[in-house]
Amino acid sequence: MKKHNYSAGPCILPQEVFEKSAQAILDFNNSGLSILEISHRSKDFVAVMDEARALVLELLGLEGKGYEVLFLGGGASMQFLMAPYNLMKVNGKAAYLDTGTWASGAIKEAKHFGETVVVASSKSENYNHIPKSYIIPADADYFHCTSNNTIFGTQMKSFPEVNVPLVCDMSSDIFSRVLDFSKFDLIYAGAQKNMGPAGATLVVVKTEILGKTGRTIPSILDYQQHVSKESMYNTPPVFPVYASLLTLQWLKKLGGISAIEKINETKANLLYTEIDRNPLFKGTAAKEDRSNMNATFLLNDKVHQEKFDAMWKAAGISGLAGHRSVGGYRASMYNAMPIESVQVLVDVMQQLESKI
Ligand SMILES: *Cc1c(COP(=O)(O)O)cnc(C)c1O
Repeated sequence: MKKHNYSAGPCILPQEVFEKSAQAILDFNNSGLSILEISHRSKDFVAVMDEARALVLELLGLEGKGYEVLFLGGGASMQFLMAPYNLMKVNGKAAYLDTGTWASGAIKEAKHFGETVVVASSKSENYNHIPKSYIIPADADYFHCTSNNTIFGTQMKSFPEVNVPLVCDMSSDIFSRVLDFSKFDLIYAGAQKNMGPAGATLVVVKTEILGKTGRTIPSILDYQQHVSKESMYNTPPVFPVYASLLTLQWLKKLGGISAIEKINETKANLLYTEIDRNPLFKGTAAKEDRSNMNATFLLNDKVHQEKFDAMWKAAGISGLAGHRSVGGYRASMYNAMPIESVQVLVDVMQQLESKI
């Protein structure tokens, strides 16, 4: 039986993406070849790459606004260093908002390239909220933030007005909600949270911000190199790009980001309402910053843990354990998670209450 997959990543994808991907592994576009064995230079795959890149701009509302789309390897973690390498000037300075494990990972890598100012951090409260008031140095080469903190279950509901390039790690909530994406100069996201299988990383960059550092950047780490080769500087992650394209097509058919945003809000409301209502549970993130993608919560009394764990597992739920740094539970409700699966979890929470 198919599980209700609450994994934080790699994570659930639409069923039709699994089916079409499986078919393409056997025979891609009736070519007599598997997607796993075709050349990335073949006409059929170049068409996949072109469509995927175009669809990203279309879904984000960035067509004709000076942005380029890349599908790179190395994960979002590689972007922790590619962003400063490409944007921080020699003897320059970058500003970072520290909202969690991934944000602090990005800060660590930026320090290799120059002065890295942490404008605010919620670390001392175990990242249970998003800092709201901070000053971004006017002479920073860019400001970096993390839109959704996958591990701690917090999400930036607004973004600061900045006069420097705005860089955002959107790994775990890209394509999940309507934003004015044109406010951002560089967006990156590992595919495996909301777009496709692990192995591809999406980079959306406003090209006018590139080429200004005075650094010599090794080609493979240079956004301009990848842009000039239309994301084919070297062999791209062919299969993850194809599966990502299928997910983007699915999203477009569904009505795009504004349609999925409503569904995501409904799912999140359903679960948070139960977390707040049910006396056995409590949420761990500040209410105003709660993520619509990753809901983190605890049992008020750990004595019920064994029973609850057995119950959700018996209900066909998978991947609900919280990250080790937070404990408790984390329900990741990415785009492809159906509301029916959220209802199954809510039902189990209510059954636990009625048994105690
Ligand atoms: C998972 C995650 C990462 C790390 O992604 P990798 O692709 O494993 O490098 C970075 N940032 C955020 C917000 C994430 O959720």
